[in-house]
Amino acid sequence: MSSSAAEPSFRESVDLMFDRAAALMDMSPGLAQKIRVCNSTYTVRFGVRLRGKIETFTGYRSVHSEHMEPVKGGIRYALSVNQDEVEALAALMTYKCALVETPFGGAKGGLCIDPRQWDERELEQITRRFAYELIKRDLIHPAQNVPAPDMGTGEREMAWIVDQYSRMNTTDINAKACVTGKPLNSGGIRGRVEATGRGVQYALREFFRHPEDVARAKLSGGLDGKRVIVQGLGNVGYHLAKFLAEEDGARITAIIERDGALVDEKGLDVEAVKQWITSTGSVKGFPGAGFVEDGAAVLEADCDILIPAAMEGVINLDNAARIRAPLIVEAANGPVTFGADEILRQKGALLIPDMYANAGGVTVSYFEWVKNLSHIRFGRMQRRAEEARSRLLVEELERLSADRGLGWTLAPGFKDRFLTGSDELALVRSGLDDTMRIAYQSMREVWLGRENVEDLRTAAYIVAIERVAATYRSKGL
Ligand code: GLU
Repeated sequence: MSSSAAEPSFRESVDLMFDRAAALMDMSPGLAQKIRVCNSTYTVRFGVRLRGKIETFTGYRSVHSEHMEPVKGGIRYALSVNQDEVEALAALMTYKCALVETPFGGAKGGLCIDPRQWDERELEQITRRFAYELIKRDLIHPAQNVPAPDMGTGEREMAWIVDQYSRMNTTDINAKACVTGKPLNSGGIRGRVEATGRGVQYALREFFRHPEDVARAKLSGGLDGKRVIVQGLGNVGYHLAKFLAEEDGARITAIIERDGALVDEKGLDVEAVKQWITSTGSVKGFPGAGFVEDGAAVLEADCDILIPAAMEGVINLDNAARIRAPLIVEAANGPVTFGADEILRQKGALLIPDMYANAGGVTVSYFEWVKNLSHIRFGRMQRRAEEARSRLLVEELERLSADRGLGWTLAPGFKDRFLTGSDELALVRSGLDDTMRIAYQSMREVWLGRENVEDLRTAAYIVAIERVAATYRSKGL
């Protein structure tokens, strides 16, 4: 976090980025103001009897924009949670959903808690009580407000929330759709856990499909062999680093965690590092790699791609001028402050913005929500259609072969494989890949095609704001 007095708050930073884009658009100031402001933020304080005494917790659910409903966004568990943060994150959800065309408004929730201080049974009590407060006010509801995991929460918390909602709404046939990011046996979808990391990978792959864009970042070639620094080995950073190393040939030359950084120019074994952290609780002592006590300093190390994947504000007025990476990918929400963004741009660094880069989570949340509402195993319909198409193709091939006496025979097993169609995970992945490609192209069109648009972040804001504005214009406020 920045210590500079000149640094605006997270919410102010998001608003300033919004203003920068809005100034380049043909939109009335009244409409711009309506889109920018956060519609409402609910604060709740509740007590839970734990370890023989009453503990009071403070939680929030902020709704930034209801231009589409339900509103969507995760619930964060961290001691740093506050109203300003939740509102900034809710605003980013609005823009993110608009950019990747998931039909949701933006929201976010948070609970001021250090989840590591409590055991599983206690966390369940706290989560159920928090959920109860939100459900009572329709701040968790399949048609109105659909949370998901964020920092400090995951499948486990979502399972408690859906169970709590189902108990309080026994006649709601769509109860499962009240939250996404659930485990499979509570109505979740395959591929959701790794979706945000997978989305960042697809975003990078799409970026590297455009050599001119790559050249603007003063890089060349593809992802293979690129030196990547990842900050934060949580759900997003872990999956992303693993996929980039194992599937794209990137070298993870540093992993920055809260208690220091591991460095290895040859590339770190992400899975081994993750296992080390899980078993020892720290990156310290990991064999075969260099250790740097001052992890934050490693953000400034030489690399091709820097990926902050943890908290907001880690690249700020204090360190922006020293960042050496030519390409920065915001896997976290808001890791680069408004002021830092300015400095990085002046230095000629290229930045792939959060609202695009980390949209994989909410994209797959959308697939999960649709799956829950349709009450049919995701992909079953598509699968039938694919099978029918495939069968026609095979028949056509066989007819052609027979007519012309070509004597073609299909390889053993081919017919079975070809006719089986896609499974849920394959559909989720291809849907996510399409989404990331299309969103990049819409952002890029504005970036390269419009006067005065210098960067991808401003382009992303313009695309998102235009879409939200179009909804307001067509349906009224
Ligand atoms: N918390 C994630 C985000 O910041 C996912 C939100 C969702 O799936 O609703 O995008």
